[in-house]
Amino acid sequence: MPDVEISGNGSFLNDEAAGSVPHPAGRQPALTGCPWHDVNEMLQAAGLRPTRQRMALGWLLFGKGARHLTAEMLYEEATLAKVPVSLATVYNTLNQLTDAGLLRQVSVDGTKTYFDTNVSAHHHFYLENNHELVDIPDPHLVLQKMPEVPEGYEIARVDMVVRLRKKR
Ligand SMILES: [Zn+2]
Repeated sequence: MPDVEISGNGSFLNDEAAGSVPHPAGRQPALTGCPWHDVNEMLQAAGLRPTRQRMALGWLLFGKGARHLTAEMLYEEATLAKVPVSLATVYNTLNQLTDAGLLRQVSVDGTKTYFDTNVSAHHHFYLENNHELVDIPDPHLVLQKMPEVPEGYEIARVDMVVRLRKKR
């Protein structure tokens, strides 16, 4: 068993996250710390059949701690790992995992969408120079003044992306 850190910074399935994420199949995954077993558990608990491709992509996604990946980045990793998938399959799988609550989508601008393996509440720095998304460690950031919410609506979540650039 390789010593892979799954739950280091932010943990992709800590208690907080597990509490706030719906598991459509109605059960909590029994995690053991073994990435292969855990990916299988997570998929099944989310009601997704653990196909070869989902398992392989899940292994790449969740086996290395909290990460932020675009579909293109995951596709490149899959290609390097000799996982036979198309970019379209990578997109589909990422969307299915997001719908199942196992990933969180973070859009930085119209062209870049990142998938975050840490689904607990947190905000992000976006490093414009190297196109990198980094967690803001403090989950308790608050806006000075929340906007008025239209009748019949409630705030589901506030995603904050603080864009950083190198000082000139
Ligand atoms: Zn994040």
